[in-house]
Amino acid sequence: LQMFVRRATGRGRLTEKDVEEMMREVRLSLLEADVNFKIVKEFTNNVKEQALGEKILNGLNPGQQVVKIVHDELKRVMGEESVGLNYANTGLSTFMTIGLQGSGKTTAIGKMGLYIRKKDKKKVMLVAADVYRPAAIDQLVTIGKGLGIHVYEEGIKDARVIVKNGLKYAKDNNYDVVIVDTAGRLTIDEDMMQELKDVKEILKPNEVLLTVDAMMGQEAANVAKSFHDQIGATGVILTKMDGDTRGGAALSIREISQIPIKFASSGEKMDSLEAFHPERMASRILGMGDMLTLIEEVTSNIDEDEAKSMMEKMMSDSYNYLDLQKQFKMIKRMGSISKILGFIPGLGKMKEALSQVDDKQFDRINVIIQSMTEDERKYPELIDKSSKRRQRIAKGAGVEVSDVNRLRDSLVQQKQMMKQMSNMDEKQMERLSKN
Ligand code: GDP
Ligand code: MG
Repeated sequence: LQMFVRRATGRGRLTEKDVEEMMREVRLSLLEADVNFKIVKEFTNNVKEQALGEKILNGLNPGQQVVKIVHDELKRVMGEESVGLNYANTGLSTFMTIGLQGSGKTTAIGKMGLYIRKKDKKKVMLVAADVYRPAAIDQLVTIGKGLGIHVYEEGIKDARVIVKNGLKYAKDNNYDVVIVDTAGRLTIDEDMMQELKDVKEILKPNEVLLTVDAMMGQEAANVAKSFHDQIGATGVILTKMDGDTRGGAALSIREISQIPIKFASSGEKMDSLEAFHPERMASRILGMGDMLTLIEEVTSNIDEDEAKSMMEKMMSDSYNYLDLQKQFKMIKRMGSISKILGFIPGLGKMKEALSQVDDKQFDRINVIIQSMTEDERKYPELIDKSSKRRQRIAKGAGVEVSDVNRLRDSLVQQKQMMKQMSNMDEKQMERLSKN
């Protein structure tokens, strides 16, 4: 029994070899997500140190435990659960976007306008200060029209003048928020930076939001750093997350510039702006979706001690209907019996067979148990011996006597099976798992 419980509750602590093996895969996965290789190296080295000697959680194998640690660390690095927009305490709040041309500034402004109006219930106005292309102004005006949000524009003019006038207009007309759309270039350039600095000086923004095209991958982090170093950003909007990118840019940006990522934008539709979720992002960057789902299921639902004591109980002679009932409750909470059985390494076919048991059957069995007397639940042999009792129980539960018999048989079977298992050694267990 000791051996069995030990096996079922994992292999103790993570060894160098466990960590080394899994880390190779993690490294590959991060590189595939287009995270900068230096960051990958730093990150994995960090996590490696953390992971060594960590306890392996019940229900996970060492590899899964390593992935769990990596995932938790990714989440942590990615920052707080979306921090929301930083509004002025009183009066007009001012936001501006910065970023390369095509990174999604203008689109993001439309989305933010909608978000602010809908979620934060504020009266918002947009300012067209990308003055190098008439098409840029038209684009913002069109977006504003579509949303019913006022766009302040003066055509092609000095951006600084437009921003100054726009601010006055917003104050005079009792707006709560203005968002200024600025010009970007295809690459970072001095004039652009100077103009942005000037606009920032005039606007005194509560937020400077840097839009970064997630599809750019690791290059995005360098761009973000340049903008941040010269202008100072208060947050990042990660755009084009609807593409097939895994979003490694998010990790690189966080590691290189520490700017909080505030929003993820995913699509051409105006309502596709979402608060940033570190958890989701971590999962996307890491890939390994199936394994993460499993790890989450195991770790979120399982009470280690409870499962352990349940298993010990299952293997003892006193296993009875009350235990069975408890076990069902546990299974219900966890969603499926195969998850509980996930604690038990191997078991192949048996796991499959047991996972066929569905909710309806559970309910039916529960009703039968409820129709038993206290003593019958505690001492199953009372039922084994008396067909009268079985008839009474069936009647009370509104089922056939054959159903009660079947329940009795399965309890007997389960007891036998558990007894056999508790007497097995490692070799026999392995053989069973291959069946
Ligand atoms: P700006 O030059 O920084 O203002 O970028 P725009 O907002 O004009 O966007 C450049 C292009 O990217 C446009 O064709 C947008 O429709 C597109 N775009 C912007 N955001 C997204 C997004 O989240 N997903 C997708 N698929 N396309 C986007
Ligand atoms: Mg634009």
